Amino acid sequence: MPHRPYIVGNWKMNGTRAMLAEARAIDRAAGRYPDVQIGLAPPFTLVHTIASEAQAIGTGGQDCHTEAKGAHTGDVAAAMLADAGADFVILGHSERRRDHGESDALVKAKAEAALGSGLGIIVCVGETLEQRDAGQAEAVVQAQVAASLPSAAMAEEAGMARVAVAYEPVWAIGTGRVAAVEDVVAMHQAIRQTLVDWSADLGEKVRILYGGSVNADNARDLLAADGVGGALVGGASLTAESFLAIVAAA
Ligand code: PEP
Repeated sequence: MPHRPYIVGNWKMNGTRAMLAEARAIDRAAGRYPDVQIGLAPPFTLVHTIASEAQAIGTGGQDCHTEAKGAHTGDVAAAMLADAGADFVILGHSERRRDHGESDALVKAKAEAALGSGLGIIVCVGETLEQRDAGQAEAVVQAQVAASLPSAAMAEEAGMARVAVAYEPVWAIGTGRVAAVEDVVAMHQAIRQTLVDWSADLGEKVRILYGGSVNADNARDLLAADGVGGALVGGASLTAESFLAIVAAA
């Protein structure tokens, strides 16, 4: 892999100010792992505090709107995230696709808004169990990648460091079920093919993260798998201890 592994915690809808202690502990320890790029995506309410204190980790949002401002109650613009100090944003997480009906086209528009505001993006894709059982996993995920990524021209202008894809099989998120390493490798190869078709310039370089019940016990094998450029971590990112164990495994 051309980059440092990228390990990103997604706190989802977890975290009040009481959890800032965990973020501070992660940031303090991050200096011990200069070969790992570390990101943390707390709820919007904590982005500014974490971003303004962080020395060694990147801070991210978990979603953004396509528009820069306007009558969209409850939404947050990419430029607002950037203004709060965020470095990146997670887009198209399967929980957003499920809970908010987000389509690939919407994720693409959000990705372009985020790049336009100077943020990095992590675009999430992944198949359901039904799709995997029907033998459709690779086709479904390749179609999601092709339709959810920003235009290649925008991404090329932003540069490879600001674009990542996270492969997160829906059935592995928060379930304790982890994809088999050989399936992860096969899917990462399929995603890489799609990326190369998308951009001759960036396709080989964009990092592909794995997400889905990553923890201290399975992280080493997953992160050593061919083509895996890092991990997107949900439940195990909620304490500094469990998250740093994954960082150490990278
Ligand atoms: C996620 O939310 O992106 C995720 C992978 O969650 P978990 O690690 O809890 O499965």
